[in-house]
Amino acid sequence: MLKIYERDPYCREFDAEVTACVPEKKGFRVALSRTAFFPEGGGQPGDRGTIDGAAVWDTREMDGEIWHMTDEPLKEGSAVHCKLDWDFRYSNMQGHAGEHIVSGLIHKTYGYDNVGFHMGSQDITIDINGELTWEQLQDIEVKANQAIMDNIPIEVLLPDERELEDIPYRSKKEIDGQVRLIRVPGYDCCACCGTHPARTGEIHLIKLLSVQNYKKGVRVSLLCGGRALADYRQKHQQLLNMSHMLSAKMEAVEKAVSRLFEENGRLKYEKTAVDRQLLHLKAQAILRDAKGESDRLCAIENGLAGSGPRELADDLALSGKTVLVLSGQAGTDTFRYVLIDPGKKARALGQALNEAFSGRGGGSDDMVQGTCKGDGEKIKEWFEVVR
Ligand SMILES: [Zn+2]
Repeated sequence: MLKIYERDPYCREFDAEVTACVPEKKGFRVALSRTAFFPEGGGQPGDRGTIDGAAVWDTREMDGEIWHMTDEPLKEGSAVHCKLDWDFRYSNMQGHAGEHIVSGLIHKTYGYDNVGFHMGSQDITIDINGELTWEQLQDIEVKANQAIMDNIPIEVLLPDERELEDIPYRSKKEIDGQVRLIRVPGYDCCACCGTHPARTGEIHLIKLLSVQNYKKGVRVSLLCGGRALADYRQKHQQLLNMSHMLSAKMEAVEKAVSRLFEENGRLKYEKTAVDRQLLHLKAQAILRDAKGESDRLCAIENGLAGSGPRELADDLALSGKTVLVLSGQAGTDTFRYVLIDPGKKARALGQALNEAFSGRGGGSDDMVQGTCKGDGEKIKEWFEVVR
């Protein structure tokens, strides 16, 4: 089986003969007499396309054979016309070549190795066995794009064993047999089975996206070519939208967002003070309405957030009464409760409340808090009247 992609990575249509077709769990796997479909390997995904109109959704190499994963069977011995999904493949060629340049530059500058490479649907990731800062990587990005502007040829070398001894190259693993080297003069030389464009200019653009700690080094994510441009377009649009929303110039968006954060923090702080004041006024109103003779007081105040129930209970307890504050939670029959008893029987009272109204919670003899369930008025009646 002839691997057309090794000699001619630009071949996107070809004729071949079907040599095998095997049914699989999902569709079929098809072998051809010759193929330009690159099988998944070295971090590059398998090619997609069509064989006589049948969709090829992946290409894999197994036991020395290249298998085209199709959704329809193809007749063994038949002559077929095959087409690659060229946008997908070309994007992978750009990405693969971009990865070589970035890894090569990192190796040259810092001596670190690429120990993992993945071309995903979102981005390309490179795992490096050493630590790099975002600033260091931005410098790498500038140099990598210089390689594109210099439009250097990307060479494929097939050296014999003796020639190989004289060529320094990067490799992730020991290779048996013929070593295939991809060389970008001045930037990188690396053992690779993948497909690459003929010159660096075809990569168009290399954009590093992020760096994060990974194992004992870092994981760098990047995009190349049309995908980098699409990413730029999308991010630019987002920034433009934000600039309109904030009525700020694009270059001032970050400042405007940070101002909003500050303002939001201040408003939250002020709201807390107002909430506290409101609770205090509520407490005064509740005490005014409460009949003087009872030494027990239950207040139902729904929707109190955070320490609200506790603060209201503290305010009410200044009256010297035994106080229960219930605060219902929207959409449930559950109340948060706080119970304060100057007679130091809060714990026992809380237990009785928990038993009567499926509650849970605890505290001290002065104060207990928790949750309980039921009709608020019934709980109030139980607390103030039934005892
Ligand atoms: Zn490669």
